[in-house]
Amino acid sequence: MRALKLVSAGKIELQDVPIPELGPEDVLVKVAGAGLCHSDLHILQMDETWPFFGNTVGHEAAGYVEKVGSDVTDLTKGDAVLVSVIWACGRCRACVEGRDNACEVAGSRTMFPTTPGIGPDGGMAEYMKVNARHLDKIGDLDPIAAAPLADAGVTPMHAINSARSRLTPGSTAVVIAVGGLGHMGLQILKATTGARIIAIDNDESKLAIARELGADLVLKSDSSAAQRVLDETNGYGADAVFDFVGVEPTVDLAIQIVAPEGVIRLVGLGGGSFPFVAGTDASSVPWGVNVQRSYGGTRADQLQVIALAQQGKLTVEYLTYPLEKFEQAFADLEHGKVAGRAILVP
Ligand code: NAD
Ligand code: ZN
Ligand code: ZN
Repeated sequence: MRALKLVSAGKIELQDVPIPELGPEDVLVKVAGAGLCHSDLHILQMDETWPFFGNTVGHEAAGYVEKVGSDVTDLTKGDAVLVSVIWACGRCRACVEGRDNACEVAGSRTMFPTTPGIGPDGGMAEYMKVNARHLDKIGDLDPIAAAPLADAGVTPMHAINSARSRLTPGSTAVVIAVGGLGHMGLQILKATTGARIIAIDNDESKLAIARELGADLVLKSDSSAAQRVLDETNGYGADAVFDFVGVEPTVDLAIQIVAPEGVIRLVGLGGGSFPFVAGTDASSVPWGVNVQRSYGGTRADQLQVIALAQQGKLTVEYLTYPLEKFEQAFADLEHGKVAGRAILVP
C-alpha cells in the first residue's frame, strides 16, 4: 500500500509499504480521508533529534473498517469510523478522571500523549492499524468530510469546554484565526454557547468564511484589532480568547483584550510568549485570568463533536487532494490557500 512517510528533517515521501499485520485487539481501517493540519507543517521543521522519523504522517483520519482482530467484537467490516487523535491508555488516573488528553502512561510531564502520525503510523496511507478502543463509529457521516473532526473539531471543542464557565449568554468570545481549527471552533461556539463571537484573521477570504458561519463581528488582525475589541466591550475585554495561531502578535493581542477573570486558550503552536508577573504590575494579565496551553481533546470531546456534526451544526469546509498530490496540499496550506481543511484521499 502507499503511505506518506516522514523520512528525515523536512522530507516526506510517498512509499510502497506492506499492509500492517493486526494483533487481536486491532482494526485495519481503509482510510477514506486524512486531514492536513498546520501541525504537519510544524513537524517538517523538526531537526534530527525528532524521535519519529520513518513513520507515516497524518493524525486526522476516518475511514471504513476493513478487517478486525480476533478479540474485536463491536466493529464489523464496512463500519464508518473516526480515529481518535490521542491514543490514551484508558486506565491511568488522568484517563479515568476524563483527562485522557493528559494520559500519564502514554505521555510524560513535557511530552504529549501518543498521537498517531506524530508517533505511531498515521492516516496518510491506504490503510491504518488502530487498536479498536481508539475508534468511534460515525454512522452516516461521510468519512472524508468527517476526518478533520478528530483534531480540527476535537481540539477547539476541548478548549471551549474548558472555558464554558465564561461563555454565558451575553459574554464575548474571540476566535483568533479562522483556519482549519478556527472555522470549527467558531461553529462550536455558535452551536453550544450564547456568547457573542468576534472572529479575527489576517486573510480576507478567511474572514468571509467567518461571516458565513455566523460570526457577530469580523476584524482584520492588525494593530487596531485590540482597540476594536475593547470598544465593543466597553473597555472591559473579552471573556474568552481562543488563539489558533500562537505567534507573538496574536499572543500579544490575546493579552491586550482579555477581561478580568477571562480565559485565554493558546492552541496554535507559533511560539509566542507573554510576561506573567505575580504581583501588582499592570503589565501582567488582568486579575483572575486563566491561561491554558491546550493540547488536543478527550474522547468525551470527540463524542460531542461527532454528535454536533450528526445534528448538522458542525460542518467541515474542505477541499480534497489525491494522496499522491501531497506536495501540492502541503504547499497550498503553507501559503494560506486552503479554505477550511485540506484532506488527502488515498
Ligand atoms: P491553518 O493553516 O488551517 O489556519 C491558520 C489560520 O491562521 C489561517 O486562517 C491564517 O490566515 C491565520 N493566521 C495566520 N497568521 C495570523 C495572524 N497573525 N493573525 C490572525 N490570523 C492569522 O492552521 P490549523 O491547522 O487551524 O492550525 C492552527 C494552529 O494550531 C497551528 O499552529 C497548529 O499547529 C496548531 N494546532 C494545535 C493543536 C493543539 O493540540 N494544541 C492541535 C492542532 C493544531
Ligand atoms: Zn493537528
Ligand atoms: Zn492513561
